[in-house]
Amino acid sequence: MALHAFHGGLRLPGRKTHAGAIRPGPIADTLWLPLQQHAGAANRPLVAVGERVSAGQAVAAPDGDDGRLGAWLHAPCDAEVVGIEDRELPSNPALRVPTLVLRRIANGDTASLPPIADWSEQPSSVLLQRLAAAGVAGLGGAVFPSADKLSVPRQTLIVNGAECEPYIACDDALLRERADRVVCGALLLAYIAGAERIVLAVEDDMHDALAAAATAIANHGDGRVELRRVPTIYPEGGERQLIETLTGKQVPRGGLPRDIGVIVQNVGTAAAAWAAVVEGRPLTTRLVSVAGEGVREPGTYEVDIGTPVSALVAAVGGYTDKAVRLIVGGPMMGQALPHDDFPITKAANCVLVPSEAELGERRPEMPCIRCGECARVCPASLLPQQLLAFARGEQWERLSAHGVMDCIECGCCDLVCPSAIPLAEHFRWSKSMLRQRQRDAGKAEAAKARFDARELRMELEKAERAARRQRAAAPDAVAAALARAKAKAAAKNNDSETQKTTTDDGA
Ligand code: SF4
Ligand code: SF4
Repeated sequence: MALHAFHGGLRLPGRKTHAGAIRPGPIADTLWLPLQQHAGAANRPLVAVGERVSAGQAVAAPDGDDGRLGAWLHAPCDAEVVGIEDRELPSNPALRVPTLVLRRIANGDTASLPPIADWSEQPSSVLLQRLAAAGVAGLGGAVFPSADKLSVPRQTLIVNGAECEPYIACDDALLRERADRVVCGALLLAYIAGAERIVLAVEDDMHDALAAAATAIANHGDGRVELRRVPTIYPEGGERQLIETLTGKQVPRGGLPRDIGVIVQNVGTAAAAWAAVVEGRPLTTRLVSVAGEGVREPGTYEVDIGTPVSALVAAVGGYTDKAVRLIVGGPMMGQALPHDDFPITKAANCVLVPSEAELGERRPEMPCIRCGECARVCPASLLPQQLLAFARGEQWERLSAHGVMDCIECGCCDLVCPSAIPLAEHFRWSKSMLRQRQRDAGKAEAAKARFDARELRMELEKAERAARRQRAAAPDAVAAALARAKAKAAAKNNDSETQKTTTDDGA
């Protein structure tokens, strides 16, 4: 089947030469597990300070009052819970969220879930529960709980191995070394989602990964898994862009892939789902690319979730003199960190420590010259210069109507803007403001609903009280009527007696 081009995008230099073989990450003494590391509501802790936990034991669970299955959180090692404290979140350092602090101990226990070897004979609901209980979430960076994403049936499953940001190469390493797990995981995910078509998408410059994937499909595929080479154009790995490339269909504005019968799961998520179901292993590690001229031994590391970034960098030889910035994620969509006391979360696919040269020249911001370059490269087909004007004017309705929520914050517009305007930053801020306004509106609506319900309840109580009073008054009324009836009857009797006496006397 032919491939289709999505609008915009950029060809960026890959800079993935460091990928190499997967190496074990550090054994850190302290681990930080933020309770809000999946998309959606925060988890609630299942353990208390002072408690000892085993490797693989569930330590936090979704609240579940919103009807979602969510994803649980597990201890990556035997540990003692030494604190639950508010700490900065790497995906948003301005946000402090409750975080479990674990201190590594050695007690040799491992907690695992019972393997479900006969998964193809199980109902989807059992497997969805397992994915949630094993903490499986999107490892491409979005960390959406997989059980929730898979709970709606789809016709097509796309397994995303299109790793389009420069430097990030953990999916490449996974496919090169563990393609069997990805392919088996893809079959499992397709079974859960009821998908008939399975497409494994890999970028055309990932030669070894493509070869390994082809072998794994030949060994394990059931004829349904198609391997597709997709062009290395940033942001090819974006969910909407990849769907359009492979199917020619566009996800409607404001809609979701499910609206066109498609689900996209990252290759790492497929492998994690296989481990969770068939081996009973919860998600406690992830592959992380450590990259940039600012670290001594760049490479791909398998890292315990919760490992401090400082421990990871120390384990790869530390910083070089060239280190000028610390970023979690890629250079385009990653988050700059103010220091390295942040944990590796399920979302952290890359720790990038670039040099000045790698960051490129920083130019002063100038006024927009309306060149239209930003619109030409925008993969979401937006008009960034227009959105910028709305954002600066805080015109929320217009921002919304012109699709700012569809901005994937890819940064293509930033990169081509001759005026060096940080457009994506404006749109990230606009989106967060719109979400906040939505939440506020929701809260106001909920408060109004609560007020109306209270009013209604008071009305009902008032009516009930009135009815009770009426019922209470009813016996008196009956008694009075009876008394009146009795008195009337007595008076009648007296009259007849008098009449009778008079008659008798007269007789
Ligand atoms: S690329 Fe920059 S200067 Fe050109 S229209 Fe867009 S915002 Fe304006
Ligand atoms: S950051 Fe947003 S507006 Fe800019 S190119 Fe990417 S999707 Fe378009």
